[in-house]
Amino acid sequence: MTHDDSATLEVLCCCDPPEVLDPAAYRDAAVTEALTEVTARPAAQQPPWPHPFEVDAVEAELSELPGLTTEDEVDDLARAMALVARGDALVLQGGDCAERFHEAVPDLVRRKVDYLQGLAAMMRAATGLPSVAVGRLAGQYGKPRSSPYEPAPTGGRMAAYCGDGVNAPEAEPARRVPDPRRLRTAYDCARAVLREVRRASRGKPLMERVHVAHELLLMPYERPLVRAGVRGPFSASTHFGWIGERTRDLGGAHVALAAAVRNPVGVKIGPTAAPDDVVALTLALNPDGVPGKLCLITRYGAADVDRSLPEVARAVARRGAPAVWVCDPMHGNGIKVGDVKTRLVEDMLTEVSSFVRVLTELRLRPSGLHLELTPDPVTECVSSQEAEPLFADYRSTCDPRLNPEQSVAVIAHFLDRIS
Ligand code: PEP
Ligand code: MN
Repeated sequence: MTHDDSATLEVLCCCDPPEVLDPAAYRDAAVTEALTEVTARPAAQQPPWPHPFEVDAVEAELSELPGLTTEDEVDDLARAMALVARGDALVLQGGDCAERFHEAVPDLVRRKVDYLQGLAAMMRAATGLPSVAVGRLAGQYGKPRSSPYEPAPTGGRMAAYCGDGVNAPEAEPARRVPDPRRLRTAYDCARAVLREVRRASRGKPLMERVHVAHELLLMPYERPLVRAGVRGPFSASTHFGWIGERTRDLGGAHVALAAAVRNPVGVKIGPTAAPDDVVALTLALNPDGVPGKLCLITRYGAADVDRSLPEVARAVARRGAPAVWVCDPMHGNGIKVGDVKTRLVEDMLTEVSSFVRVLTELRLRPSGLHLELTPDPVTECVSSQEAEPLFADYRSTCDPRLNPEQSVAVIAHFLDRIS
């Protein structure tokens, strides 16, 4: 080495670009890179916002606000889900189809959390296994729709209700216009709900806490809440996020978003998902093969499970990344009685039985349930034994939920089948 060479080396050391050595800058770069990919891809199911520039302003505002969840909370859930993946715990995901803003008050949130914890305790009592309780809570404010518009009562059409984070449920065209300010309200309500969830979990061991989850749907809400963690980018909008049946396109923005964050994530799998597509989703969403990172939430409908699930499950077991199998017996079983959207409890029981049987036959593990439920004694789902359902107490603004008696019936049925 000549004198000149060593001088060059010294100079190089001194001039190492500081951003390479500064981990914070590196992590921000990781978030930026992840979001660039998300933004570059088409996002399905975004509401028909009337003025896109207003949406951009709200997105910028949300990016300046503190994250709702912390990286440590997210990693706690990841540890709990790893136990589920090993067969040492079960998982119960449940709550409203659509949360309402006015329900983001301590008493009502506490009621939902206590109720979920009670159901999880019931699962533990029946099986000896702890159950990870994950509420559809603190962010379930955006809804995908089969059709973006519906007929208005006064003639013409109006936007469909897309969740309180987008518009109001009342059937008035003006109230249905998507309003991006609602995304900011969604953030404030989620924060209030989380405050109460944390209060209810304070001092409890990990396996007795309630974690929160919602569908990762609305891009101007989810993107700005992706944050740089110490251990990598994470979604600070929730602990667990799932991709819905309508947005699980492998090349779409939702899959890129879920793949970019370290949170445990789920993807809904219905009858149109081909085995190869599901395999590809598992590899995209759990590329490192981390046990518990990914839930496949199947929602086939009672009539379809036996036909569709075996091939998908076999393909994932052979060629996919590890996944926790969860049964959503609600979303494939929608029916209408007159004009009312409902679901038959018997169909749910049939779907649960088939789910457990198919997976068990393939030596895979049925690990839990994903349910729409409420502690209130509503009459939204029905039993076929009811001669003429009255729907006397139908409150849901979106899908019908199980009341306590019905929830216990579905959960007990699952526990019976797995034991
Ligand atoms: C939901 O969970 O409310 C929902 C819309 O589910 P899916 O995407 O499975 O239809
Ligand atoms: Mn629903």
